[in-house]
Formats: sequence, C-alpha cells, structure tokens
Amino acid sequence: MTDVSAQPLYDTFARADLRFERGEGVWLVTESGDRYLDFAAGIAVNSLGHAHPHLVETLKNQAEKLWHVSNIYEIPGQKRLGQRLVDNTFADKVFFTNSGAEALECAIKTARRYHYVNGSPERFRIITFEGAFHGRTLATIAAGGQAKYLEGFGPKVEGFDQVPFGDEKALKAAIGSETAAILIEPIQGEGGVRSVPDEDLRALRKLCEAEGLLLILDEVQTGVGRTGKLFAHEWSGIQPDIMAVAKGIGGGFPLGACLATAEAAKGMTAGVHGTTFGGNPLAMAVGNAVLDVILEEGFLEHVKKIALVMKQGLASISDRYPDVIAEVRGQGLLMGLKTVVPNTTMVQALRDEQLLTVSAGDNVIRLLPPLVATEEEARDALARIETAAERLSVAARQKSA
Ligand SMILES: *Cc1c(COP(=O)(O)O)cnc(C)c1O
Repeated sequence: MTDVSAQPLYDTFARADLRFERGEGVWLVTESGDRYLDFAAGIAVNSLGHAHPHLVETLKNQAEKLWHVSNIYEIPGQKRLGQRLVDNTFADKVFFTNSGAEALECAIKTARRYHYVNGSPERFRIITFEGAFHGRTLATIAAGGQAKYLEGFGPKVEGFDQVPFGDEKALKAAIGSETAAILIEPIQGEGGVRSVPDEDLRALRKLCEAEGLLLILDEVQTGVGRTGKLFAHEWSGIQPDIMAVAKGIGGGFPLGACLATAEAAKGMTAGVHGTTFGGNPLAMAVGNAVLDVILEEGFLEHVKKIALVMKQGLASISDRYPDVIAEVRGQGLLMGLKTVVPNTTMVQALRDEQLLTVSAGDNVIRLLPPLVATEEEARDALARIETAAERLSVAARQKSA
C-alpha cells in the first residue's frame, strides 16, 4: 500500500510522475531512456539548456578552487558579474541573491529605504497588479496579492495595494501620500503570459516621475534574453529604477540579483541588508559563464529568429485548431497558448508527445524553451504541438457529436 503522507517531503508540489536522469541541450532523458523535448526549461531557468559545456567546465573549475567565503570578504567574481550587469543595463548597483523572491525582497527594501533616507519614512506602500506573481515569501505573496497563496499564513504583510491589470484610473486612484513605488512584471509569467503594452510601460514611467515614485520591474522570468532583448523592458525604451532578476541568470544554478540606479539604492548602506549565500564564488562563476554566452554577438538575434519560427508555427496551428487553442501570446521565447480545453489537459497531451511545457494562470500553457534551441528543435516542438492539438480536436468533436 502506498500512502502519500508516508513520503518524506512536504506535499507542497503536485509532481508529474517523471524522473529525469540527465539532460543534453534542450533534451531531458528519463531513467528508462525516454527523451523529452524540454520547452519548460525548469520554468525559464535553464536558459542555455542542460549540461551546456561552458557552464559545466566553469562549474567544475570553480568547484576545485573555492565555493564559498562569505560577504565578509571581497569576491572578485561578484564584482565582475555586477560590473557586467551595470555595463549592460540601466543600473549602477547590484545585490546578489539566491532566488527570485529574495531579489524582490531586496527591491522592496531598496524602495522603502530610498524614501526613508529622503526624509519620507511614511512612503512605504507599493502598488502591484492583479494576476502578478512575485514569489512565495511573506512579503512577496502580499505583493502578488493572490488569495490562494495568502490563505492561512496569518495577516498579509502590510504595504501592498493591488489594482486591476491595465486599469489606469484605478492605478491613479491608488496612489496616495504613502506610496513609495509601483512594482510590475513587463509580461506576467505565472499570470498567463499577459504582456504590458509598451505604451502602458511608458505611461507608468511618466506617472512615477510625476508622483515621485520608484518604478520596480520584476524581470525574474522575462529577463536575461528570454524575450529577445537582454531585459524585456528594453522593448519599450523605458528604464526602471529597480529591477529584480533571477531564473535564467544562473542557467540552473540558484542565483538572483537586485539591480538599481545609484539614486534608488542610496539608502542601502553598510549593514542595512545582507545574505549568507548570495553572490558566493560558485554562483558568480556560473553567472559570469551564462553572461559569456548571452552577451555574445548574435545570441539575442538567434533568440529572435527562433521566436519567429515558433510564433508563425503556433499561429498556423491555432488557426487550424481553434477548438483547442484560442490565442497565442508572448514575446520572444516566453510564449503562451491560451487553450480552449483546460490548460492542464493540453500540458498532459503535450507530455504524451514527449514535449514538456508549463501551465499558467488564465488557462494558458507556457512554452519556455532553452534560448539555445535550434530551428530544427523548434520545428520538432511545433510538430508535437500540432499532433496534440489534432488529437484534442478530434476528442472535442467526438464529445460534442
Ligand atoms: C519565479 C518568479 C519569482 C520567484 O522566484 P523564486 O526563485 O521562485 O523565488 C518572482 N517573480 C517572477 C516574475 C517569477 O516568475
């Protein structure tokens, strides 16, 4: 008799019954040797696929030298990765973390501290948007505002005001004398691949300027080349004051970062924030190796090219199977299919075709291939999606007949 409560792990994950033993590029191989095309990429984490030679070599070399020393000491790899992020973004300052939620915590603290040192300690509230996802710590579930993540965890952390997605009037009405910042994902990932239109981002930037607010972008899922730009906000031409990054920046190693302008970070002085593991030599070696590849001439062009192949292919499949796929969404290799059938049914149908995807809110499935996927691999994925759509379409017609 198998009793699920008898297994040693918290029952917090509804895991698929799949056990992978190794990965090679965009492929994951099970213990029994079945090969899956991985268009989930650890939820936008394995930006360079599995076992990328440059990452493997870097990790091995660093593992033989030094793993961890503490931020009590200088960490040259940290300065180097920080400088490269500064050189390639709006930011002047970087704080390294181990996860997305911690990057958001740092972003929130940075914004509050900015107003504090400016002589406005009452400005601590942050405006967020319905459907947002910012992590699972107590502050980030309050920021995300989703009831299903808040339930049962005591009083919601104070200081987050949520407004409907894309509702300018509600946004303006929510700004008060205690508002410190606006926090938004350029494209909601977990929320269902919902893009903020470029003109809305530009309007947000202007609004922050006018009201003396900081603009915080959560690019944990959209960043590090995922949309075909190094960061998604570059499509709109705006710059944030603070930005949270994680997922793809470590290529599978737990790594996050909070980036800020010097002005926004001016309250983050010695001793006000810290981390034991964040920015350790092992993580920094891998993070630098990820950037070696992403910043290579032509890499983002490759992402855009593969994204176009996918976009055209998906549009054609959704045209042919409107009873299965209602809409194609997203930017670059952060793609969403809003399905007519339940999204979990589609994820399972694709898994039956040995293509891995991830579900999201708004009845969407996400396609998040490693950024190194080739055109051939993209066409392979499209063929599997077509087969699954055909099968679901036949099943739907039989059901309604
Ligand atoms: C995944 C995610 C987070 C949380 O990152 P963790 O590493 O799980 O803490 C925050 N924001 C966005 C947009 C995400 O996609």
